[in-house]
Amino acid sequence: MKIAVKKFGGTSVGSPERIKNIATRLIKAKKQFPNLVIVVSAMGATTDNLVKLAFEMSPTPCPREYDALISTGENVSAALLAMALNGAGTPAISLTGLQAGIKTENIYNRAKIIKVEPSRIYDELSKGKIVIVTGFQGVNHILDVTTIGRGGSDTSAVVLASVIGASECDICTDVDGVYTTDPRLVKNARKLDEISYDEMLELASLGAKVLHPRSVECAKENNIVIHVRSSFKDSEGTRVKEDTNLESQRPVTGITLNQEQATLSILKVPDTPGVAGVIFSRLAEKNINVDMIVQSINENKMNDVTYTIDKIDLDVAKKISQTICDDLHASRIEWDDNIAKLSVVGIGMVSKPGVAAKMFQVFGDHKINIKFISTSEIKISCVINKKDAQQALQYLHDAFELDKH
Ligand code: ASP
Ligand code: MG
Repeated sequence: MKIAVKKFGGTSVGSPERIKNIATRLIKAKKQFPNLVIVVSAMGATTDNLVKLAFEMSPTPCPREYDALISTGENVSAALLAMALNGAGTPAISLTGLQAGIKTENIYNRAKIIKVEPSRIYDELSKGKIVIVTGFQGVNHILDVTTIGRGGSDTSAVVLASVIGASECDICTDVDGVYTTDPRLVKNARKLDEISYDEMLELASLGAKVLHPRSVECAKENNIVIHVRSSFKDSEGTRVKEDTNLESQRPVTGITLNQEQATLSILKVPDTPGVAGVIFSRLAEKNINVDMIVQSINENKMNDVTYTIDKIDLDVAKKISQTICDDLHASRIEWDDNIAKLSVVGIGMVSKPGVAAKMFQVFGDHKINIKFISTSEIKISCVINKKDAQQALQYLHDAFELDKH
């Protein structure tokens, strides 16, 4: 049985009209793909609102009930879409994670899917129905509802595609593909036809919101091509796939701008073994994700240690860092939340030297000061002043000629 899997995001099912519109599009699609499995997110801001409600009940909502609550947004959109289809005379059925056989680990809020038993899905398909599965949720071994982490419906769709033997998974969204950079910030940003898993993983982790990073990981592991495309148009989007036959001559594929970070420094930390371990394990204990780390050597066996974190963690990180500073007899802490991180990403840079040099030169030419630099094999990130960020993004996009094919 050849099955097509399509996932629709929260904006695409954000209102009754939009759900009806998706239904109309699916009725058309069914002529071409008789076996359709649809995965849906919750409508618009539903999940955010459910989260708010949970915290109104308790500052520390019980994880089991939290999942029982925030998973319901997907039940609503799945049922509504099935109603719209049935109402239009096309048989459809909504299935929850439990009914679709999605089994997860035995943890709440961020469980991994470990197995899918899709017999019910096949059953309903064989009756000619469009099957609509709730994204974002599964059940654990005692059939309690679990959720798989915010933004998880992309991953639900990719996992389902892999289990039922689809080679491609459509992720239908409110943009028509993956762009060289955010088209709202750079007018001549260009839609990419293809991008490799590794590049997409970097871009997604750096904050390109179009795909959830775990879904890309999952697609890579299972060799599923993700087709990111518009929910509202038939046009081709961007295929995320293994690095073959790509526009491989390009050294840079995309650029991201993250304005949601802050830096924190602990100044004049004694230069003794184990100190970095103390600092970063204390931050890790409080679940604070550290991104870039710079240690610079001072005179008199003292180091300044600076790191970047998500801005929302700044207050907590400040408190922890002050305690660390006191305990280690360092001099003081400093922070800056007027920063932005620009990252250029491309697998082509592995074989093409000079990408970093070019990036730094662009900043130099425009008198933009670089505060930090970090690199991986296929990425170079620079932290600069926030006020320069948007301009710098355009300069880089132009310098690497990303508007040209
Ligand atoms: N509704 C969930 C969320 O908002 C899952 C998703 O949209 O992918 O996080
Ligand atoms: Mg979403």
